[in-house]
Amino acid sequence: MALDRNVVPNDLNAFWMPFTANRQFKKAPRMFVAAEGMFYTTADGRQVLDGTAGLWCCNAGHKRPRIVEAIQKQAAELDYAPAFQMGHPKAFELANRIIDIAPKGIEHVFYTNSGSESVETALKLAIAYHRARGEGTRTRLIGRERGYHGVNFGGISVGGIVNNRKFFGTMLAGVDHLPHTHLPENAFTKGQPEHGAHLADDLERIIALHGPETIAAVIVEPMAGSTGVLLPPKGYLEKLRAITKKHGILLIFDEVITGFGRLGSAFAAQHYDVLPDMMTTAKGLTNGVIPMGAVLTTAEVHDAFMQGPEHMIELFHGYTYSGNPIAAACGIATLETYKEEGLFERAAELAPYWQEALHSLKGLPHVIDIRNEGLIGAVELEPIAGEPTKRAFSAFLECYEKGVLIRTTGDIIAMSPPLIIEKEHIDQLIGTLGDVLKSLA
Ligand code: PLP
Repeated sequence: MALDRNVVPNDLNAFWMPFTANRQFKKAPRMFVAAEGMFYTTADGRQVLDGTAGLWCCNAGHKRPRIVEAIQKQAAELDYAPAFQMGHPKAFELANRIIDIAPKGIEHVFYTNSGSESVETALKLAIAYHRARGEGTRTRLIGRERGYHGVNFGGISVGGIVNNRKFFGTMLAGVDHLPHTHLPENAFTKGQPEHGAHLADDLERIIALHGPETIAAVIVEPMAGSTGVLLPPKGYLEKLRAITKKHGILLIFDEVITGFGRLGSAFAAQHYDVLPDMMTTAKGLTNGVIPMGAVLTTAEVHDAFMQGPEHMIELFHGYTYSGNPIAAACGIATLETYKEEGLFERAAELAPYWQEALHSLKGLPHVIDIRNEGLIGAVELEPIAGEPTKRAFSAFLECYEKGVLIRTTGDIIAMSPPLIIEKEHIDQLIGTLGDVLKSLA
């Protein structure tokens, strides 16, 4: 497809794109130049329905006036304030607003700039928390197979995606992994599977193997997003909570995707009614517009650090951009937009329609599983023999040509539209995907 050279640079070589097939992309670039509401505009002037909320982050859709104005106003008023030993009001205001919608028992907010940084922060907090309480032997971290916790060293260590780990050397020690929660017998389950809570019992085995006194924290996505929407079976998260509590181990929910309404509640912790000790967030916190993340903690975690002389720094950790004024203003406007438009409730209301639309794809060629929860869904395809990922990637390219944006991970198609989606958009998204699946080799 010809690109409009007025808006797209013709030398694409310098930018080394993240998590992208660079050589394929640069031969046939897919460029967005504008966005509004549910739609992107491509460089060649086509409208593409956003079936993925950008990268699971634009929960209020695109170019939302309140957010645009807040950023413009803040940039003109206070562009930056030092993050260490100085403050500015909006960072405090946003923290209070996050706590207002967080599960009861979560009381503090530590700012980061991304999901990956939230994960590193939470892992460090877990280890330092135990040390502050005189349990310095608790340094081991437990993650889960097929878990995604960003791309920094801590995150890939506890993460369970082989390709994200295997190229990156020897710093991934001191961790262990739970089995993932995807059981073949649960294929085509609508929502949370009934069967599989027993998978949490493996944590007892891991604890017995290493000794509880060596383990700082367990980190899981309450619902695994990036590896293809893997639901927690009923009772599973409750078990993880009970076992971690019994052994004095912190439980961290990585809510980078599930936070801010994706499942129909502010956080998955509320949706599943399980309270972790810490939650990692990013993405929807600022509607994806300005980079920002946050780790949310209980008072117990926070208070363990609040000791020693008052003039001393309690935690030797933080980022130049922690609580950046423009990000904070963007976060406040985002949370106001969610609230004013009732978007979390809207996600819950639309979830049954979304579920039925997704599961209508059952029986189409290559479809071996469909999974859903809230406004998130996955369609798993049978891989082409000897060419894993190719079939789903072809579906992605075809859908893009036909005007809808989906995401693929392996041979799984994942969708997570903005929470402002209308039923007719759901019909367009699923209808287009269905047509593409029928035509795929
Ligand atoms: N944790 C989870 C559960 C995620 O889904 C992601 C990104 O998709 C991350 C962490 C990393 O976030 P970021 O890309 O902002 O570093």
